[in-house]
Amino acid sequence: MSDTDTHDQTGTLRTPIVAVLGHVDHGKTTLLDKIRGSAVSEGEAGAITQHIGATAVPLDTVSQMAGSLVDPDDFDLPGLLFIDTPGHHSFTTLRSRGGALADIAVLVVDVNDGFQPQTLEAIDILKRTGTPFIVAANKIDTTPGWNPQEGEPIQQTYEAQSKQARQRLDENLYEIIGNLSDEGFSADLYWRVQNFTKNIGVVPLSAMTGEGIPDLLAVLMGLSQRYMKAEMEIDVAGPGKGTVLEVKEERGFGATLDVVLYDGTVREDETIVVGGANSPIVTEVRALLQPRPNAEIRTEKRFDRVDQVSAATGIKIAAPDLEDAMAGAPVRVVRDRDVDEVIEEVQAELAGIEVETEEQGVVVKADTLGSLEAMANALQEAEVPILRAEVGDVAPRDVSIAGTAREDEHKVILGFNVDVLPDAEEDLEDSDVRLFSHDVIYQLVEDYDEFVTERKRAQQ
Ligand code: GDP
Repeated sequence: MSDTDTHDQTGTLRTPIVAVLGHVDHGKTTLLDKIRGSAVSEGEAGAITQHIGATAVPLDTVSQMAGSLVDPDDFDLPGLLFIDTPGHHSFTTLRSRGGALADIAVLVVDVNDGFQPQTLEAIDILKRTGTPFIVAANKIDTTPGWNPQEGEPIQQTYEAQSKQARQRLDENLYEIIGNLSDEGFSADLYWRVQNFTKNIGVVPLSAMTGEGIPDLLAVLMGLSQRYMKAEMEIDVAGPGKGTVLEVKEERGFGATLDVVLYDGTVREDETIVVGGANSPIVTEVRALLQPRPNAEIRTEKRFDRVDQVSAATGIKIAAPDLEDAMAGAPVRVVRDRDVDEVIEEVQAELAGIEVETEEQGVVVKADTLGSLEAMANALQEAEVPILRAEVGDVAPRDVSIAGTAREDEHKVILGFNVDVLPDAEEDLEDSDVRLFSHDVIYQLVEDYDEFVTERKRAQQ
């Protein structure tokens, strides 16, 4: 028997999962678009594969895009999988085994704008989940007197700038490096970093012009290959494990799950267990769907059906009874195992994200388990007690629960990234319950703090 015949697929290396986060308008979307766009314009068939919720850039394409910076012979990881929805919000959604689902993060910081609230929020999340990250110091093209150097690594471009341009850029870059140091990270321009697990590499780049993107890809590839290879080893033929990115209604399929699969394989007709709002959902995969390349919006057939998929990938799962599934919840394939055992596993993972509650406190609603946990952590730090914390839109029940609080400062609902259901809206108007709602955690906690301070002042 040859080696290939005996190869049992255990220990296959999967693609590292990369998330892009940072403050609003700092260029996350532009960066992802540019990476996708330049991969496609490399013109190779199969240059990228669009998955549900993610884009896979294979090693060969990474190497073509990165030119001399990535020699494919130096790598045995298959490429990079970029999560399409940027922002820490989706990053917190994506968890696995109690940590972050993303293996590496790119923290985008606008060089002119520097650190902003969501940058700090992102760093908090990265610290808490222990996720390695690199910093994309974006928009370097806006530096006055900027002189682009086509096709050169960014270090050369940086060194080729006029004295004035370089000075201006350095001021901005070193402010970012200083801010990182305030957060307890030793950081430097990436070409000066020896060990990316000890130091944060800063890659000056322009998501607009593409300068520095080859360098970013090279750093991501190098970092995963050198430090994360062991974590990329999966049993690719084993039962699939994934995380729900979103629960979406699709015409013809009902409620479906957009899932990032980080281990194993899922097949059509297999039984899966999914974390639900009330209890774990046990159901059977009816269809596995991938987006159709170049599907027209108006065509009914937006998806291609596949009979199985393996990690790492994004996939849409259609199955009965998914209405109560939660974004951020685990998905597990039940194969050659007792279903109760898998249910227990899913419950244990969900319990790991349970929020500590008090007898008196505020009501917290968030859109995903991850963001709920992030909210709860921020509130605990600010010493705000929580009576109840749940995933979902603000419902009438939340208003009536908040309304029973003894203290005015507890007659409060804090909503992170959620809507208010119409009935709850009416109830809110008729009650003395206050709703604070925001999509930035810092802001939400600050707004609430201000309210409490003002109340105290008024009482004196
Ligand atoms: P996001 O909110 O972080 O996703 O930010 P966007 O990608 O939407 O970018 C916000 C704005 O900054 C848009 O107008 C972009 O065109 C612009 N932008 C992003 N990257 C760059 C860059 O590298 N250079 C310049 N000049 N503008 C950029």
